[in-house]
Amino acid sequence: MKRIDPIPTNLSPNALLRSLGITEPRDIDVEAIAYYVGLRVKRRCLKCCEAMITGLGNKGIISVNLGGMPQRERFSIAHELGHWAHHRGETVACRSTDIGKFSQTNTVERAADQYAADLLMPWPMFKTECRKHRTLNLNALKEVAGEFKTSLTATLIRMIDSDIYPASMVICHGTTGRKWHRSAPKMNNRWFPREELDAESFAFQLLHSQNQEEQRFPRKIGADAWFDKAWASRYEITEQSFRIPGEGVVTILNLDPNMVG
Ligand SMILES: [Zn+2]
Repeated sequence: MKRIDPIPTNLSPNALLRSLGITEPRDIDVEAIAYYVGLRVKRRCLKCCEAMITGLGNKGIISVNLGGMPQRERFSIAHELGHWAHHRGETVACRSTDIGKFSQTNTVERAADQYAADLLMPWPMFKTECRKHRTLNLNALKEVAGEFKTSLTATLIRMIDSDIYPASMVICHGTTGRKWHRSAPKMNNRWFPREELDAESFAFQLLHSQNQEEQRFPRKIGADAWFDKAWASRYEITEQSFRIPGEGVVTILNLDPNMVG
């Protein structure tokens, strides 16, 4: 008699990918992974949230809101898988502001986001892709995001965290000022970006004009445009800004590798 495999108990992203024999980004089928761990995915109109999970015992249902971008939907499903791994037995409903923001204050949501990033962009595969690009810029970002079918924001945060670009930083601005920023892991924290955008920066123009297109290439600018310190004027850095819908204006800064220690 053929033995029926029970639902796997080790739900760590690495263990799941290994037991499914997944070694290439294109094979990370998040719905198949959900099914493997006892979850069905349903798309429906959710009023209160972007995604939710309900479960009973070893079986459950992930619901995702209809009509989202495919990359966003993938991340939401993977985020709910994170709740399934970490917060089993609870019904969790996640608003769009809970998913993919790597909240500093909400540890439950941050754990689910981290799980999603680890599942969709596993480090060995992800670093292999990153190493194909010598510098972090919009082109590199688009290519890596395309490979993993992940959003620009989630991919960019992962690229910064990868430690492959030790002199890179990303900053997101909305009309009310700086929303978030992230630096390469070992960057000295004296490189802390200013709150408001400098009128000299391309990001400023992008934020305040509807027609302005993204910057197709990085350009050089004095570091004092981004860092409110007297010594910053001695350095030159590169900036590249673009819009991410729902996020705001995002800028990738590249410092001189000799400056960051
Ligand atoms: Zn959540």
